[in-house]
Amino acid sequence: MKVKAAAKINLMLDILKKLDNGYHSLFMVMQSVGIYDTVTVEKNGEGHIVIECDKKGVPCNSKNIAYKCAEKFFDACGIEDRGISIKIKKEIPIAAGIAGGSADGAAVLYCLNKIFDTGLSHHQLCEIGETVGADIPFSLTGGTAVALGTGNVIAPVKSLADCSIVIAKPEQEVSTPAAYSQFDALTRVRHLDRISMIEAVSSGDYDKICSLCGNVFEQAVEVPKRPHIKGVMRKFEADACCMSGSGPTVFGLFSDEKQARKCFEKLSENYSEVYLTLPVSQGIIEC
Ligand code: ATP
Repeated sequence: MKVKAAAKINLMLDILKKLDNGYHSLFMVMQSVGIYDTVTVEKNGEGHIVIECDKKGVPCNSKNIAYKCAEKFFDACGIEDRGISIKIKKEIPIAAGIAGGSADGAAVLYCLNKIFDTGLSHHQLCEIGETVGADIPFSLTGGTAVALGTGNVIAPVKSLADCSIVIAKPEQEVSTPAAYSQFDALTRVRHLDRISMIEAVSSGDYDKICSLCGNVFEQAVEVPKRPHIKGVMRKFEADACCMSGSGPTVFGLFSDEKQARKCFEKLSENYSEVYLTLPVSQGIIEC
């Protein structure tokens, strides 16, 4: 079975507090975007999980998020014959803050539920996914949603209005655990206007959403190229620009498609991983 799994951006990311178990309580507004990994899952008759990926730097072993999701799925369903092959064709940049690994994990859970005819509900798949990664429940859900808790509580909201999205990843990888440590070391945090954002996404008010976009990781994670990328986005009349996840990727929202294209072309002169995309309403799409 073959599916496409979408990347995401965070229209808002605020960290409320550190929990006793070491996790963080989050407030996020998530948006799926049209950049996809393609994931193929098949039974292989070999009794164990085999994983392949076409991109260097992605572990092809039990450390892969997709592999971990498969193991958790088999544990949860009591399935002993774990003979499956997972093939990942990567388009989503790695360690970028746009949920590349989570998308693959979500794709595997979705496929296994069909292949093994286990009939788990969406909610049950999310529960398995959240034990592997905070963004997996959203990756399974897709669209536009508010995510709370550790990312495990998902409330879908009105779809984001049609717009163009430019995404640029500078040549820097950010480790998510390191980003949280840097955040924890901050002595003062400027939190975001979450209440107004809830109002804005509930009514689908694009202008208001744009005026409220923000990410508290920008206060903690240094991305030397961020001001340059944002400067270019603003020059081309971005309605909002912000870092996604724990970084370093920066996205811009544009109501004017032509300006977005010009911005994409300009940033492509300086950065190798630049995308011109749009909001999408599904996390997983069967091919
Ligand atoms: P998220 O927003 O889900 O935290 P991210 O963009 O910050 O995603 P990932 O692309 O998921 O980060 O990758 C983080 C690390 O996880 C990488 O350095 C990589 O070694 C490892 N990894 C494990 N499995 C995968 C996978 N399937 N795809 C990409 N990276 C993976």
